[in-house]
Amino acid sequence: MTNKQNIIGLSREELAEKFAALGLEKFRLKQIWQWVYFYGVREFEKMTNLSKPTRQLLEDNFYIGRPTLSRDLQSIDGTRKFLIKFEDGQEVETVHIPEADRGSLCMSSQVGCSLTCTFCHTGTQKLTRNLSSADIVGQFMVARDAFGEWPSPNDGRIISNIVMMGMGEPLLNYDNVSKALKIIMDEEGIKLSKRKITLSTSGIVPFIQQCGEDLGVNLAVSLHAVRDELRDEIVPINKKWKIAELLEACRKYYGYKEDQSGWRRITFEYVMLKGVNDSLADAREMVRLLKDIRAKVNLIPFNPWPGAIYECSTKEQIEAFSKILEDAGLSAPIRRPRGQDIMAACGQLKSDSVKMQKI
Ligand code: SAH
Ligand code: SF4
Repeated sequence: MTNKQNIIGLSREELAEKFAALGLEKFRLKQIWQWVYFYGVREFEKMTNLSKPTRQLLEDNFYIGRPTLSRDLQSIDGTRKFLIKFEDGQEVETVHIPEADRGSLCMSSQVGCSLTCTFCHTGTQKLTRNLSSADIVGQFMVARDAFGEWPSPNDGRIISNIVMMGMGEPLLNYDNVSKALKIIMDEEGIKLSKRKITLSTSGIVPFIQQCGEDLGVNLAVSLHAVRDELRDEIVPINKKWKIAELLEACRKYYGYKEDQSGWRRITFEYVMLKGVNDSLADAREMVRLLKDIRAKVNLIPFNPWPGAIYECSTKEQIEAFSKILEDAGLSAPIRRPRGQDIMAACGQLKSDSVKMQKI
């Protein structure tokens, strides 16, 4: 295996270059791409429209490497959590959340996170490393293997959407995340539309615009506080990019043209922390801040984890908070926690989850 390269995670351009160097005809790229990403094959010998010598050439130079599934837990509510192990032994969690007519795969972008949001379990764990594009695409492929969903279809699939909301800050690993998402969106492979992919960020302002231009996926912004003073404390990246700058980047995100068509909205995530950010004055301030942004708000009941210093707001408080937003014309659903029995809910992911299960 030493000199072979993983074919998964290489961009089309990189593959084209490598194939040319091996003397392969140009049209082979499309065929091989389809075998890998449309049919999901794991061996070159299954690529039946390639000659034996071509298959051998691929075999000698590449391998089709998936990460391995080291644990597969199912919640009573149907949420499924995969612990996924990469070649170097590092692990992340990837969660599948089934809904009535679709299912979202919540993927990770880093092992740990360099940011230290005070309510987030991942934030207690140092950043170990960025995931490579192969690691990111690999999470999707392993989940699809687990659901037996090859070849790549378009409709009616268990994994119909992706949310980059697992461990890590995707915009601090932008090169690998964008490379991976471009592979996943590619028309001749997995072909997931940008409208079915959501990237969540705590607010890495310089990359927001680039993400909009390059990828155009749906954007979710982890707002969590409406005053800089509080946001500095609970989402510390706010010390670098303030709320006003963050919202300015959001206004520009979908670009002029699409904004005119008017249907794409930015989701603002807001974790409800009792006595911290859940006052009705905060709700009114949020209305003011978002008044000229095409926005919707996701109110997330705080998911506890061992050692957390917060409590979740009361149901009544969350409902009153939501009502203020809704009365002002903002859609503000309260997210139902999923997979709590297997520690798979928002912000509960951690890579040493095997230990977690025993707590
Ligand atoms: N780093 C990115 C994406 C991963 S976090 C980001 O921060 O957006 C995904 C979402 O889970 C974020 O909105 C995050 O704020 C939220 N979250 C983190 N910890 C949580 C917790 N304990 N309860 C509820 N939501 C949490
Ligand atoms: Fe990192 Fe997001 Fe957790 Fe903040 S909320 S520590 S950015 S994963």
